[in-house]
Amino acid sequence: MKKNDTEQIRIANRKLIINYVRINGPVARVDIGRALNLSPATITQITAELQKDGRILEISSEQESGAARGRPRILIDLAPDASSVLVVKLAINELRILLGDHKGNVVTEAVYPLQTRELNAEQLTGTLLTAITGFIKKLARRRRPKAVCVVVQGAVNGVTGEILWSPVLKERNIPLRQVIEEQIKLPTTVINDANCLAIGIRQLPAYQDLNDLVVVMLGHGLGMGCFINGVLYQGPSGGAGELGHLNYMPNGAQCLCGKRGCVEAYLGDYALFRDARMLLPFAAEDELHPTEQSMQALVDLAEAGNGELVDMFHRAGVALGYALAGVIGILRPAKIIISGPGVRSYKYLEPGVDAGLTSALVPVLSAGTEIESVALGGDQLIFGAISLALQALD
Ligand SMILES: [Zn+2]
Repeated sequence: MKKNDTEQIRIANRKLIINYVRINGPVARVDIGRALNLSPATITQITAELQKDGRILEISSEQESGAARGRPRILIDLAPDASSVLVVKLAINELRILLGDHKGNVVTEAVYPLQTRELNAEQLTGTLLTAITGFIKKLARRRRPKAVCVVVQGAVNGVTGEILWSPVLKERNIPLRQVIEEQIKLPTTVINDANCLAIGIRQLPAYQDLNDLVVVMLGHGLGMGCFINGVLYQGPSGGAGELGHLNYMPNGAQCLCGKRGCVEAYLGDYALFRDARMLLPFAAEDELHPTEQSMQALVDLAEAGNGELVDMFHRAGVALGYALAGVIGILRPAKIIISGPGVRSYKYLEPGVDAGLTSALVPVLSAGTEIESVALGGDQLIFGAISLALQALD
């Protein structure tokens, strides 16, 4: 083996160990080796290096249960203050900036209301830069971030860091990473929110061993993050996984992307709210951006026995079932996790999902994939963003 290869393996193992401890720490060295299938010598060498750099701490010892003399068991964890990163989350009419520590916790955050759809590209990047600079200036020197992760709803070129299209913005093709890296001088990643949620969910102990996993994010729109062989698939030019804009009905309902009949136009919050307003007299609000309270009110009405809304959710579920049939037919992942704020109505979507899947795919093809709905949202998405920014430093 060439020296270069050995070094590459050491770097990869180091990243694996850091990531494992970030998710599972505090943890014993022996358990890291077992979980990652690495030798005790490798674990000892790499953790000693990390400890010397101040990146991990021997944070606690506990009495080993059943040990004859109660020998203390040394656990290690990431030193929370060893590094800080910034997460910038751009949503409709709201910018959130958070500081994450080396362990993946949120240290502090600020929310800035802004009319995202009224800003042109220059105004948007200018506003972001001002907010980021102001946020960093208020931090103690030891807390200054070393990397940035920008999370955006919509299609993103994960390779160039360009926002291709976002329903929260009026302009397309905004070279956000380039602008931030030039002005803030920090390594920057730009990622779509569904991909970020998928990263966060796969960090959970229950899912970290699933190498072929699809996370479908229901909410304002319909997004997808897809792990193939343990790697998030974004496509050679980024932007993969735009499940919401798969065509469900040629020339069907109007989608925010500009086309008609996309799955999202039957299933996104805005689509459900638009349809519900045709059925029931709701107070006027921004139809394209219904609030969480409005969306929950629809579920509550279905819960109270409103048959029209139950039928509406069923129809939306069928659209999702067809979309999932496409995903399963092409990828056959071990598991599809349905998550995001839209799972609030999954109880009413699910019968339609089953009907759509049964109609679209023969059972022999759909049998290998388990579908699970999990009410995970913002926190897991933010953890995904922090860990992604940290990975640039690991
Ligand atoms: Zn669309």
